[in-house]
Formats: sequence, structure tokens, C-alpha cells
Amino acid sequence: MPELPEVEVTRRGFADAIAGATVTGVRLGKPLRWPLGCEPGTLAGRRVQGVRRRGKYLLLDLDNGLLLLLHLGMSGSLRFAADLPPAGVHDHFDLHTDRGVLRLHDPRRFGAAVWTTGEDDPRARKLLGQLGVEPLPGEGFDFQAFHAGLRASRAPIKQVLLAGRLVVGVGNIYASEVLFLSGIAPTAPASSIGPRRARRLHAAIVQVLARAVERGGSTLRDFAGTDGSAGHFQLEASVYGREGQPCRACGAPIRLLRQGQRSTYFCPRCQRA
Ligand code: ZN
Repeated sequence: MPELPEVEVTRRGFADAIAGATVTGVRLGKPLRWPLGCEPGTLAGRRVQGVRRRGKYLLLDLDNGLLLLLHLGMSGSLRFAADLPPAGVHDHFDLHTDRGVLRLHDPRRFGAAVWTTGEDDPRARKLLGQLGVEPLPGEGFDFQAFHAGLRASRAPIKQVLLAGRLVVGVGNIYASEVLFLSGIAPTAPASSIGPRRARRLHAAIVQVLARAVERGGSTLRDFAGTDGSAGHFQLEASVYGREGQPCRACGAPIRLLRQGQRSTYFCPRCQRA
């Protein structure tokens, strides 16, 4: 599943090239997770001002404050090129512009392209309104506010991170990793985490996600169930996907736990509740 770093890498890959382009048409394939919300012709003639990101949403700013939201879902990927082959069976949204085609390829169709009148549009608020702050450096991820948010919740810290309301981008793999790096058991109530460990957790989130973006998102693929594949993440993971293998810090076997139907990996010796 594309995680925040992969979405940011995607954004960087086409934002400059599409800025200033004029939309000439839209081609829709099979239905995606949410409908576009307008007649495809509505977009023709609009100019793309730029591409921003909030959480795992890409925001294409168009003329007059109009906004096209894109989400990659479980299996989506975007390409922007002047010369793309004809749309295939898994290509469900093409934004044609005078500089090329932006194409959403999405076999499982959990992704979406949603037209809105701006960030105040109810449709945009529904999708973006609950998102926590951004985790990458320089984007306002403040430690005091983060710690105050932790103090306010008795839910297990892993669940609080995955919910994305305090900070976005800590998906399932990253949650296991940052909790290991900060010595916190995934089941620890968020409110029980003191300032010292909260500080380490905050730093780990920034560091791990920023590094993943630097690495081009290649650390992100969810290798669960694909035994033996030698992806970057697998080589680097401290705990994720390493059940039964020795902890890289203390040697104790890494354990697997199910939390809210998601796999959580942790070291029972290095991580405390
Ligand atoms: Zn350990």
C-alpha cells in the first residue's frame, strides 16, 4: 500500500512538470472508491497551479481555488508523461493536459480522483478534515502539541498513531518501527508515555519518514506474506516482518501481536509499556 513517503515521492515526481498545464479533457475507467463528483468536461480549460499533499492525498490546485483530490488507495500509482500508451484495463482516471496525461493506474480501485470547489467544500472537508499534522521536517509537527495529544488518550499507542489524527503518515509498518526505536510497547496507553519517551517517539517519526522520502519511497513496500523478497525495507526493518528473529539491539526473539486486525511487531525486552 502506498504510504505517505511514497505519495510524497510521487508528488515530487510530477509537480513541477504539470504546474502551468491546461486541462484538455478527462477519461474515466471503471468506478473508483469515490465518484469524481462532476461532469468530466467541467475540468477542461482549467489550469493546474501546482500539486500539494495532505497525508496520503494529493491536491491538484486548479484555477479559481478549484481542487482535484487524488488518492492512491491500496494499489494505485500515478504517471505523468507526454506520451502514454492507450489506457489499459486498470487505468481508471486520465487527466489530459496540453503537457501530457496524468494517469491513475489502480488494479484494486480503492484509489480515487475527487473534484471539489476547494478545501472548504464539504467533500474535501470529509476527506481532509480529520487529518493530523504533517510529520516531515518544517511542516509544523510540534512536540508539545504531540505530547499533549498523547496525554489525552488512553488507547494503545499503536492505535493512536495509526488513527492519524495527531500526526499523519505513521502507517502500519512505520508504527512498529518508531515504537521500537523509542522503546515503547505497542500496547502502552498513549497517556502513560512520559516526556522523555514521547520526545524519542516524536524524533523517530520525523527521522524514519524523512529518510523514507529521501530513499525514494523504496523502503515502504509492505512485504508481509512475500517471504524471501529482498526489498530495502526488509533489509532495514528493526522489527517489522521479523517474528522469531533476534532483536538487533538485545537478541530477544521479536514477537508478533494482532492489534485491531493489523500485525504489530515488537521486542518484548527493549519495549516497555
Ligand atoms: Zn530487544
